Amino acid sequence: MKTLLIGEYRQGKLLDTTYELFGFAGQLGAETALFLVGTDSQLPAYGGTLYLADVAVCGEYSPELHKQLVLEAIKKENPDQIVFLHSSYGWDLAPRVAASLKVAQVSEVVAIQEGGYEVGCCNAKMRRTLKPATAQSVITIQAGAFEGVQPGGAPQIVKLAPAGASNVEFLGYEPAEEKGVDLAKAEIIVSAGRGIGKKDNVGIIAALAKAFGGELGASRPVVDAEWVSHDHQVGTTGQTVSPKLYVACGISGAIQHLAGMKKSEFILAINKDKDAPIGEVADVLVVADLLQFVPALTARLSQ
Ligand SMILES: Cc1cc2nc3c(=O)[nH]c(=O)nc-3n(C[C@H](O)[C@H](O)[C@H](O)COP(=O)(O)OP(=O)(O)OC[C@H]3O[C@@H](n4cnc5c(N)ncnc54)[C@H](O)[C@@H]3O)c2cc1C
Repeated sequence: MKTLLIGEYRQGKLLDTTYELFGFAGQLGAETALFLVGTDSQLPAYGGTLYLADVAVCGEYSPELHKQLVLEAIKKENPDQIVFLHSSYGWDLAPRVAASLKVAQVSEVVAIQEGGYEVGCCNAKMRRTLKPATAQSVITIQAGAFEGVQPGGAPQIVKLAPAGASNVEFLGYEPAEEKGVDLAKAEIIVSAGRGIGKKDNVGIIAALAKAFGGELGASRPVVDAEWVSHDHQVGTTGQTVSPKLYVACGISGAIQHLAGMKKSEFILAINKDKDAPIGEVADVLVVADLLQFVPALTARLSQ
């Protein structure tokens, strides 16, 4: 099986998430070739074939032009799968490529199953397994779902040049609003999940964060309910964090949350359900009612 992996380059840098594509291909046991609109001066640590188009000519974002270049690489490589990251770049480009090739697309894959791909459904409460019905297919993988793997080595470059001009003008990036809390720098994060039950209980989790000398984090439902502000949210649509200690209080461990915190050095989870999926990544899972356990732990730490 052969894959063409579509790497990403942004604001003068090769994105680390590019290596997650190799993690995915490794799990499939597939051969790889890589496509990138980037530059000679920022090459990936990869010893295989790299289809490289010059970002100075093609721009960092130009769907029509990049699609044309990806299609050219596909023509040369004839891969079974064309694999994108499920990022703003990938989710824009992938369906254009799939439509041009008239092949199946499976989006936001979180795991590989024998004979198919797992994707989230029902607001990520469940997963369904899909199998493309065409021999060739386009896949997007969810950020954080596959471990980044650096194959190492220097690529054999095949240069690609666009045939025409772009039909959109890329005006640039706008920095996100300044965040109130920078969780990315925190060494200790104590996060509140839906299991805290109500807004009034945020204080219990915030007190534990304070006793640890850490920051308050949260899962998305807690933010959606406006119990805490979005700058506290951890996960794919929040911040990606890697503290020394991450304490997950009443958080089930949905893939979108795990993607944001599973690189933490030590994970302590407090959950009343011993089978909660957070247990799969936690170093310690305390099976308890957080409303009893968390204040007791805070009191002990504060002694
Ligand atoms: C496109 C998309 C993007 C998303 N982005 C994010 C994101 O960035 N971050 C994020 O977090 N989610 C995100 N989500 C939502 C995600 O799929 C989950 O719905 C969410 O993470 C669940 O949050 P939770 O674990 O707090 O709640 P739940 O899944 O409802 O889990 C609550 C947990 O609390 C436990 N519990 C209940 N009461 C107690 C108690 N008294 N004591 C101890 N434990 C208790 C339960 O056993 C359960 O495990 C996203 C979803 C989608 C579709």
